[in-house]
Amino acid sequence: MTTAAIILAAGRGTRAGGARAKQWQGLAGARVIDWTLRAFRAAPAIEVIALVLQPDEMGLVAPADGLITAAGGDTRADSVRAGLEALDGRGVDKVLVHDVARPCVTPALITAVIDALDDSAAAAPAVAVSDALWRGDAGHVAGIQPRDGLWRAQTPQGFDFAAIRNAHAAHAGDAADDVEVARAAGIEVAIVPGDADNLKITTAADFDRAARILRDRQRSGPSSDFDIRTGTGYDVHRFGPGDHVMLCGVAVPHDRGLQGHSDADVGMHAITDALYGALALGDIGRHFPPSEARWKGAESHIFLRHAMDEVRARGYRVTHIDCTLICERPKVGPHADAMRERLAAIAGLDAGRVSVKATTSERLGFTGRGEGIAAQAAATVMRP
Ligand code: MG
Repeated sequence: MTTAAIILAAGRGTRAGGARAKQWQGLAGARVIDWTLRAFRAAPAIEVIALVLQPDEMGLVAPADGLITAAGGDTRADSVRAGLEALDGRGVDKVLVHDVARPCVTPALITAVIDALDDSAAAAPAVAVSDALWRGDAGHVAGIQPRDGLWRAQTPQGFDFAAIRNAHAAHAGDAADDVEVARAAGIEVAIVPGDADNLKITTAADFDRAARILRDRQRSGPSSDFDIRTGTGYDVHRFGPGDHVMLCGVAVPHDRGLQGHSDADVGMHAITDALYGALALGDIGRHFPPSEARWKGAESHIFLRHAMDEVRARGYRVTHIDCTLICERPKVGPHADAMRERLAAIAGLDAGRVSVKATTSERLGFTGRGEGIAAQAAATVMRP
């Protein structure tokens, strides 16, 4: 069960002005495409993003975890098909298709479309038309168009993966959007309440409006969508009797053990405190009081999982974790990669975002005398 997004960025449109297509133009301190990618990366359910680009523009976006690129075709429908092909065989069951020129899309709207796919093979956001509608002829009003039942369509449009893949395979020619393709294949499309700020950039004036929307969100403080935070953690456990130590989720054979209320995994504790620190949520002791018997001997992955849940619940994602273990013995180096893999699995991160390293204290101090192990950690979270 994997949810993916296809972002269509192969357009050459320069109608909004500027030498490059609009997705590469600057907007409120980043490129249009960066804002769009940021919103999808911040949506917790999106696991893979297929970015469809012109073949000669594939190098303009930095590689990243969960991001694959595909070369776009001549028409919008061709580009969607290229994105669907790139996702084929990856176990994708829900896919969202989004136009890169809607950079003000929010993780909340993305999530609403994904949720609607639980009950429907297709779902798309739209805003009911509220303005009066006229038909015009040569600069004069030629008639009134009733607006009842009319909607302004937006993206991302979401689909059951197999259903939209088959619909596109059967659809000849181009289409205005994927709802048109889905409906041509007989798929019913649910309407999700859209977001008036989720505008499609077409003209220079749209750039100004989008910049205002994005800057307002950045300015609006703690409730703002955009935020980067780094927390630090530090922990110490003393040696006692035993035949192994738990370090970052890995049991390392040793002639002593570490003492503590839980399994005394000093590395995992420092990392967990770094995550709580980034969120200003206190420390492990506040969430798992040592005075409570139920945490006696607890495996420390429980703490790390809790901290990760708190991160996600607040709309953040972890971009990086770095932990340093400080001891003379046991030797950590041979186990460091296993520790990274274990931490990454517990936290649901790519191992490339998790670092574990070790140092001695040159036989100085309590770690130097072999009385215990210390650990320090830093963790960075960001939203969206
Ligand atoms: Mg501890």
